[in-house]
Amino acid sequence: MHQSLTERWSRVSLRSKITGVTVLMLTLGLLVSGIGTMAMLRQYVIQQVDSQLQVDAQSASNSYSAAALGQGTTAVVSSDYYVALYDEHGHLKDHTWRDHPRDELPHVTGSLDLQTVMELDGRTMTLEDAAHDTEFLAVAVPLVISPQGTLGTLVMAVSLKPTENTMATYLTIFLGFGLGVVLVGALLTRLLVTSTFAPLREVERTAAAIADGDFSQRLGGATPNTEVGRLNRSLNTMLSRIDRLFKDRARTIDQMRRFVGDASHELRTPLVSVRGYAELYRMGALQSPEEIAQAMERIEKEAIRMGGLVEDLLELARLDETKPLALAPVDLMPLARDAALDAMASSPGRTITVITPIPAEFEDTVERPAIDLAHSTGEVPAASATGPKPAEKPPETSHPTNGSVSFAGATLARLRTRKPRKTDVPAPAPEAAPVSEPATVQAVVMAEENKIRQVITNLMGNALRFSPADSPVELEVAVDRRNQRASIAIIDHGEGIPPQIRDKIFQRFWRADTSRARETGGSGLGLAIVASIVASHNGTVQVVDTPGGGATFRVWFPLACSPSAPQRVTPATTP
Ligand code: ADP
Repeated sequence: MHQSLTERWSRVSLRSKITGVTVLMLTLGLLVSGIGTMAMLRQYVIQQVDSQLQVDAQSASNSYSAAALGQGTTAVVSSDYYVALYDEHGHLKDHTWRDHPRDELPHVTGSLDLQTVMELDGRTMTLEDAAHDTEFLAVAVPLVISPQGTLGTLVMAVSLKPTENTMATYLTIFLGFGLGVVLVGALLTRLLVTSTFAPLREVERTAAAIADGDFSQRLGGATPNTEVGRLNRSLNTMLSRIDRLFKDRARTIDQMRRFVGDASHELRTPLVSVRGYAELYRMGALQSPEEIAQAMERIEKEAIRMGGLVEDLLELARLDETKPLALAPVDLMPLARDAALDAMASSPGRTITVITPIPAEFEDTVERPAIDLAHSTGEVPAASATGPKPAEKPPETSHPTNGSVSFAGATLARLRTRKPRKTDVPAPAPEAAPVSEPATVQAVVMAEENKIRQVITNLMGNALRFSPADSPVELEVAVDRRNQRASIAIIDHGEGIPPQIRDKIFQRFWRADTSRARETGGSGLGLAIVASIVASHNGTVQVVDTPGGGATFRVWFPLACSPSAPQRVTPATTP
C-alpha cells in the first residue's frame, strides 16, 4: 500500500506535484483560518447576547416586581425576547409570543420551582424548541409576582437563530472567497511553474536530441542568472567538451585507419617484389649466377626500404604517444656542423656550407664566420672560392658568409672527434659579447637533442635527394632575439616545391608524384616526422623557395630563455 502510494507519487510530474502541493497548502490554510475565525466569532457573539440577556432579564425582573407591588408600571420588554412567568412551584402563569406556534417556543425541561431557580443563581441556560430546530439562550431570575410579596420566577429567552444565520452567512461568504483564492492560487502556481519549467523542457528536448546522436545541439533561452541558466551554461560547456572529444576521437580513428591503410599499402609493394623473386627462384626461373645476384640485390633493396619504412612508422608511433620530452638546452650550431659532416660523408662532391649567426653589434666590424665543408678533391679551397653564397636572405640576426672558413674532407675525422668548444656548450645567449672577443650568437633552444638531430637529418636527406648530385646545400643557423627564437634552415638548389603542394608535403605518406620522388623511393613520412617533432617543441616549420631555384626548409624553436620554450621535465629520482 505504502509502496504503491510512493510509486504513484513518483510517477506524477514535478509541475503537477508543485501545483498540487501549493493548492493543498492554500486550501488547508484557508480552512483552518476560516473555521478558527468562525468558532471564535460565534463564541464572542454569544457572549455579547448572553450579557445583554442578563442585563435585560434583571431589569425586567425589577420592573415586574415593582409593578406587582404597585410601585410602578411594567416596563416594555423587546419582542425579541421570550418572557415567561412561573409561580413559586414552577407552574407557568403567563408568557409572551402567544402568536408563535407552541412547538417554536423555548421548551423548559425540568422543574423551575423557586428552590431550583435560587440554585441556578442567574446562570444562563440553553433551551431548545420542541422540534429541536432552534436554540435559545435563557436566564431565570426570581421576582415578586403579587402585592403580598409572593415570589415567582421570570424566564427570559432569546433565540440564537439570528446569530446562527450571521455565522452561516459569514461561512458562505468566506467559502466563496476561499474558493476564489484557491482557484486563482492554483492558476498562478501553474502559470509560474510552467513558465519556470519551460527552459527545463527545452533541456529535456535538447537532451533527447543529443541522445539521438545530434551532438551539435546546445541549450539556450534561460536567463543566465537563474538556476536553469547556470545549469544550461554548465551543460553547454560539458557538451562542447564531449563534442570536441568525440570529434578528436573520430579524427584519430580516421587518421589511424588511413595511416594503417597507407602503411599496409606501402609495405605491400616491396613484399610483393620479394615474394615475386622468391617464387621465380623456386620455379627455377633464375638460372645464371648473375640473375640470382640481381634478384638478391633487388630483395636486399626492398628489405632495406621496408626496414626504413618500419623505422619511420615506429618513430611516428612514438611521437604520437606524446611521451614527455627529455628537454635540455641544445645549441643548434654543433648540430648543424655535425649534419654537414654527415652529409659530406654520404655525398662526396657536394659543397655543404654552415652559416652561423653573429651578434648585431659586430655586424659591421667583424668578418662573418661560416664553415664550408667542401669535400671533393681533398684540397682546401680558397675562402672566396668555396661554396656558393647562400642564396636566401637570412633574418636580421643571421648573416651570410663573406669570409668563409673551409675544411677539406680530410678534416672531417678531426672535426668529428673534436672536443666541444666553449661556444658549443649550451648556455644562455649572452646579452652583449665582449668587444675584444667577438663570438657567434648562441642559438640555444630547449629541446631533446636527438629529436632535433632527427629533424635536421630528415631535411638534409630530402635536400640531398631532391637536388642534383653536384649542387650545393647550405645549413643556416639564425637567432631572432625579438621573437625569442632560433632557427636552422636547410637550403637546397634543386627542383623546389610548388606552392600548391607545400601544405600537403607534411602529411603522412604524401609524396609528389614526380619521377624523382618515385626514384628516391621515400615513404612520404620524413616531413610528417619533422612536423610532429617541431610541434612537440612548440616550434614551427616553413618551406619557401630558394632564390634562384630550390627549396628552403626553415625550422624555428623558442630560445631556451623564452617563456614559450617547452618546460624542462625533471627526471624522476630512482631510490
Ligand atoms: P619522402 O620519404 O618521400 O621524402 P617526405 O615526407 O620527406 O617523404 O617528403 C614528402 C615529399 O615532399 C617528397 O616526396 C617530395 O616530393 C617533397 N619534398 C620534400 N623535400 C623536398 C625538397 N628538398 N625538394 C623538393 N621536394 C621535396
